[in-house]
Amino acid sequence: MKKVVKFGGSSLASSAQFKKVGAIIRADVNRRFVVPSAPGKRFREDVKVTDMLYHCYSVAEQDGDFTEELKNIRARYDEIISGLGLDFSLDEEFAVIEQNFRDKIGTDYAASRGEYLNGKIMSGYLGFEFVDAAEIVRFDEDGVFDSEKTNSLVSDRLAGCECAVIPGFYGSMPDGSIKTFSRGGSDITGAIIARGVRAGIYENWTDVSGFLLTDPRIVKNPVSINTITYRELRELSYMGASVLHDASIFPVRKAGIPINIRNTNKPEDPGTMIVKTTGAKSKYTITGIAGRKGFVAITVEKDMMNSEVGFGRKVLEAFEQYGISFEHMPSGIDTLSVFVEQSAFEPKEQEVIAAINRMAQPDVITIDTDLSLIAVVGRGMRDARGTAGRVFTSLANARVNVRMIDQGSDEENIIIGVKDEDFEPAVRAIYDEFVR
Ligand code: ADP
Ligand code: ASP
Ligand code: MG
Repeated sequence: MKKVVKFGGSSLASSAQFKKVGAIIRADVNRRFVVPSAPGKRFREDVKVTDMLYHCYSVAEQDGDFTEELKNIRARYDEIISGLGLDFSLDEEFAVIEQNFRDKIGTDYAASRGEYLNGKIMSGYLGFEFVDAAEIVRFDEDGVFDSEKTNSLVSDRLAGCECAVIPGFYGSMPDGSIKTFSRGGSDITGAIIARGVRAGIYENWTDVSGFLLTDPRIVKNPVSINTITYRELRELSYMGASVLHDASIFPVRKAGIPINIRNTNKPEDPGTMIVKTTGAKSKYTITGIAGRKGFVAITVEKDMMNSEVGFGRKVLEAFEQYGISFEHMPSGIDTLSVFVEQSAFEPKEQEVIAAINRMAQPDVITIDTDLSLIAVVGRGMRDARGTAGRVFTSLANARVNVRMIDQGSDEENIIIGVKDEDFEPAVRAIYDEFVR
């Protein structure tokens, strides 16, 4: 059984971390395809190499002197190389990078070098072939990831490879220039490679022992989840459970390849299995809680709204015209609220409101800012009576004012809107209700 293994930034932040990764790969001959991220944080206040690169390139773009910035980046890699005792120099690579920065060839190129260089080192360390992601991961003219083209390039290129290292996070455009996925995108590369080589499993190695029931930065030591479905995971990762990029589900779901989230610092822990379907019951009715801050609710009121054909469409069209996608749209008889991301809405606020007035002619429009959305997700909720009731009782007891509720039609999730300042207390209250 072929295994694709992706290692996140903290798993590759130093030579000491690289050694753990080496031991994990060597412990299983099936771990043949390795997808590294760029070196991440070694400690809390540390800076990820990806962020160092963005910064360094912004200096270069303004014709500033970026010698110092580039030197600091180089130092991160040199520590890894010397700590591993490799006979390996990045002189040539850095000369090319420096020239390309001077030529201002692009922010995405700059950011991608974090993974590229780590891939080079990893390949030397393991004795695996280096395959540049730019060769096999492709985007179309509009910058949209081209999944089918990529899949055939990946499977052709890697068919004859015994073992290979493919850097995460980036690919190339039809003109050959480098393009990255959004932040955290190495998870997507891992999933793409897993699909392309028809892996039996995609192991995603990080710094936690699997998917936790909620964010460990909000609840101390949350329990971890043994098994979760792609659907539940996508919902949770989209809503802010940042352990796995939400777009990394698609390639593996298509191929039915399970994902196993594992901890590089505790390789003996079994981690979390992410699967298509499972008969395994979740222990706590809910599988997970996740959420994000920074939403706005635009509430539109109009008498007899419900009987006006096309009213909802007209309201949504106003958002569409300005390229703003909506997250949720709960409605009453005479009211309808649209939840959108504050950062996308704010710059276009007045234009959107004018468009709603023009197209839908409502009686009143109100804007409610600084809201959080919390998703309570679980395949077990469908069979458990009173789950919503338990959620709301726990919030009421914690004196959290609920601004919105929306239950998905698949009955696998409940979305709750609260004020940003109530976000953490709300997550803790729901967690305590179901787990403690
Ligand atoms: P990597 O660099 O390995 O890709 P990330 O930082 O992207 O790792 O993701 C792992 C982090 O995600 C954890 O350290 C944790 O702080 C955070 N996280 C947020 N929500 C969850 C969750 N529900 N379960 C596990 N980790 C979570
Ligand atoms: N290095 C990139 C980032 O920091 C991609 C990744 O880590 O997955 O976002
Ligand atoms: Mg990540």
